[in-house]
Amino acid sequence: MPRLLAALALLALGAPVVTAQTRPIPSPESVLGFVPGADRQLPTWQQVIDYFTRLDAASPRVSVRTLGKTVLGRPFLVAYIADSSTLANLERYRTIQRKLADPRLRAAGELEQLIRDGKNVILITSSIHSTEVGGFLTPFVLADRLARAETAEARSILANTIVMLVPSQNPDGVDIVGDWYRSTLDTPAEGSGPPVLYHYYTGHDNNRDWYAFTQPETRYTVDSLYTPWNPQIVNDIHQQGGNSGRIFIPPYMDPIEPNIDPILTAGTNSMGLAMAWRMTADGKLGVATNASYDQWSPARQYSLNHRGIRILTETASARLASPVEMTFAQLGTARGYDAKVASWNFPAPWLGGRWGIGDIVEYQSSASWALLVEAARDRTGWLTSYAALGDRALAADHPWRPGNDVPSAYVIPKAQGDMQALQRLIWTLQHGQVEVHETREPVTVVGRTYPAGSYLVPVRQMFGSYANALLEWQQYPNLREYPGGPPKAPYDVTAHTLPLLFGVEVAAVRGAAPAASAPIAAVAEPKYTVAGLSDGAGKRIGIYKSWSASMDEGWTRWMFDANRIRYTSLHDKEVRAGNLGSRYDVIIMPDQSAGQIARGLGRTAPDSLQGGLGQEGAAALKAFVEGGGTILFFNDASDYGIEVLDLPVRNFTAGIGRTELYAPGSLLGIEVDRSHPIAAGLTAPVPTVWFENSPTFEVTDPSRAKIVARYQATGDPLRSGWLLGGDKLNGKAALVEVTVGKGRAVLFGFRPQYRGQTMSTQPFIWDAIGRTLLP
Ligand SMILES: [Zn+2]
Repeated sequence: MPRLLAALALLALGAPVVTAQTRPIPSPESVLGFVPGADRQLPTWQQVIDYFTRLDAASPRVSVRTLGKTVLGRPFLVAYIADSSTLANLERYRTIQRKLADPRLRAAGELEQLIRDGKNVILITSSIHSTEVGGFLTPFVLADRLARAETAEARSILANTIVMLVPSQNPDGVDIVGDWYRSTLDTPAEGSGPPVLYHYYTGHDNNRDWYAFTQPETRYTVDSLYTPWNPQIVNDIHQQGGNSGRIFIPPYMDPIEPNIDPILTAGTNSMGLAMAWRMTADGKLGVATNASYDQWSPARQYSLNHRGIRILTETASARLASPVEMTFAQLGTARGYDAKVASWNFPAPWLGGRWGIGDIVEYQSSASWALLVEAARDRTGWLTSYAALGDRALAADHPWRPGNDVPSAYVIPKAQGDMQALQRLIWTLQHGQVEVHETREPVTVVGRTYPAGSYLVPVRQMFGSYANALLEWQQYPNLREYPGGPPKAPYDVTAHTLPLLFGVEVAAVRGAAPAASAPIAAVAEPKYTVAGLSDGAGKRIGIYKSWSASMDEGWTRWMFDANRIRYTSLHDKEVRAGNLGSRYDVIIMPDQSAGQIARGLGRTAPDSLQGGLGQEGAAALKAFVEGGGTILFFNDASDYGIEVLDLPVRNFTAGIGRTELYAPGSLLGIEVDRSHPIAAGLTAPVPTVWFENSPTFEVTDPSRAKIVARYQATGDPLRSGWLLGGDKLNGKAALVEVTVGKGRAVLFGFRPQYRGQTMSTQPFIWDAIGRTLLP
């Protein structure tokens, strides 16, 4: 048979076409030196790069691109995987995808053809959390299977799909955790987490950055993958604790964020249950759905706000790549099921036994494969429902919101107390694909008139529901564990109102939307600057860094670096050595419990990392303040300050149970003493703090302790999110300055720089440090 005919015949059979240029597809083992899932073996990031580079060179079905450098300078990769004919015409498929998403781009009658020609675009992100190490290896298994295309299923996936596989959403963490793991093999610390954050600034919070976009890794995925493609389906690969089910797959638990289009909730449910069904049929035990994880915070679920279903999978962990043994009797409960009892959402309990990284990789690949097969099987259905989302976004109302209490638009005046915060708000919205306009004429909202040319965000636009989620004040439902029982904890936090977080005035317009200009051009991210502290000599600042790593410490460093303010990280050893006044003017104690600060890491850690501040450290901090130094205690660290400095302040909240007072990440209003120097820089139009079951204060000696901010005397201080028992906070102090010898301690009963977002309360930090403002 002539060569061309032979090739066509092979194509008809669906077999791979082997051309002269094609090199053999490298096996993962040939690059790694071990099979993915082998006990006690983790790849380095360089090995991940090597494998995907070789795969790209060998397979016409794989195209690997570098999207940028991580915080610590590693290349951030994505592998596009599809039929070679699809990969050769990616731009054509992107045009189809955009037309499917946006009805304004479609000609009349074009939709049917677009659905026939389009592909299901599926983004797979792995190992954003670096102690969830199965996610380092599962991408090897998926890429290998798809590149080889040896089965009918694989060929059907390739024909119907464009896979964008991000082998790690946190490449730095692959080495931070991998290097630590290899260094602790055969020691008591084998299988433990590293003593530093596995993302340089954010640690585990790197998966809480999907609307604020503070980190470069978030931006690569948003800018290069989400924004150009808005995938139909997102598969986010994670791991959970090891003592209940073997894997969680959606449906999520309640609550759902009310701005998410129900098509996406229903699509997520349908896909998740199909995956669970298929895995169960394949003999996998311990598959749980409708458990543990909710569908609330946009911080974790970019896709649900941008036209894609979100399939989070959470596979049971071992001890990193070291196996564990677990008996059936040792299995416990998770939220939504008991791992020892079969139930509708957990039909086949796992029976216990050995569990290792091989099992984790097997479950993760099996789940992702089930997703890809299901998506390929009903490509038409997925594309049809995807196209409906655009029509609904541009419709006049949100029929799924009972009472339809959604404003028609938001007006944002251009004159604001904090112009950087205003610029950041516009940048943040636009970065999430929200169109921002200007008003054509003056707009009056609740008695206040905003001039023509103010910023305007109409809700009726492509991503208007997302804009509404970020601009409205959240009303988190009052959920209970059982009727009359204690509050049911959210999976993460309950508020995400950007105007309150940033401290920007925004007015919601009811009734007809004001006349709008065309969308304005993209606004640049501000160059963050703190007058009196950025780019200058300023104060000598130390930021305490525990070996029991605190994410708030990382976020604190991020905020200082973003504003170019110099600081030194202070470890236990240096604090314990004393004489701190010779090197520092100000020390910051980021949010961390008093016990962790005092005790640090436990006995399994290497000797050099053991112990926290201990008595020596506490004495050194006391001497520092008495000698004239300033210490800022953020949130829970305030308890440590009260204790070791013997402050005339009581943490009122400490003794109150969560059935009486509960606010698991909410925005609360405060009243501020404007005459106090620490309040000098506050400009937020609605002074609000980030409260996370935080301490609140009662002052026992007013001659030494001054209250800078307190909760209102009567009524509910909740502004956004969830607060139970708000009246308990009435009159209690939120921010206190205490004189100690020649120095002072400042207690923050909230997180003044929560996840890099609370620009509203950052001025308290700068003024508590004591900036030197030029006249
Ligand atoms: Zn995770």
